[in-house]
Amino acid sequence: MKLYNTLTRTLEEVSPRDGTVGMYVCGVTVYDSSHIGHARTVIVFDVLRRYLMSKGYRVKFVQNFTDVDDKIINRAKAEGKTAEEISRKYIDAYFRDFAGLNVLAADVHPKATEHIKEMIDLIKGLVDKGHAYLTLNGVYFRVRSFPGYGKLSKKPVEELEAGARVEVDASKEDPMDFALWKFSSEPPFWDSPWGKGRPGWHIECSAMALKYLGNGFEIHGGGHDLVFPHHEN
Ligand SMILES: [Zn+2]
Ligand SMILES: [Zn+2]
Repeated sequence: MKLYNTLTRTLEEVSPRDGTVGMYVCGVTVYDSSHIGHARTVIVFDVLRRYLMSKGYRVKFVQNFTDVDDKIINRAKAEGKTAEEISRKYIDAYFRDFAGLNVLAADVHPKATEHIKEMIDLIKGLVDKGHAYLTLNGVYFRVRSFPGYGKLSKKPVEELEAGARVEVDASKEDPMDFALWKFSSEPPFWDSPWGKGRPGWHIECSAMALKYLGNGFEIHGGGHDLVFPHHEN
């Protein structure tokens, strides 16, 4: 079987490193009920996983929950609840809905809030190597320090820059740079070597994928709208 690889824009054979196919599928941000678009993504990867298993592959399937995010915090404020109450409610709803659709549970369903240490360690490594720097608002990834940036989404630099201007922060070196850690003293926040705050969305999945599947796993899936900026970053 060949799968379309977004990175190379070609059909490629899946060649697992040791008979196990590692799959990471970006999960939902738990601030609301799942919708038909989530169902489509989850069912597509459930079918792929079952097909690989039927062919005799072992599959290690990891699907995260993004349970720290502005949308969750805003919803919590609007309803007079904590962010944790909101995310717990919609994680429960997620399992109910997808069990109803006969989707198998993942082998691991990591939650971002339970992997803050791994994220901080990853960010520290990036800072040490000169790929990240401190601003007034947090820690940012230095996009220009990574020559391969843009090769997944194949967007020209001008388009990447235009997209980045949505997030205005005068203390960034470059508008394209994105947050790895955002300072905040409003809950939920965690201590870090740089100051209290919470992680940026992109580093969350990097940390959880590395922890459960290691470097260079076989399949990273998600909705098409995640190609840029989430997977590029
Ligand atoms: Zn992803
Ligand atoms: Zn993700």
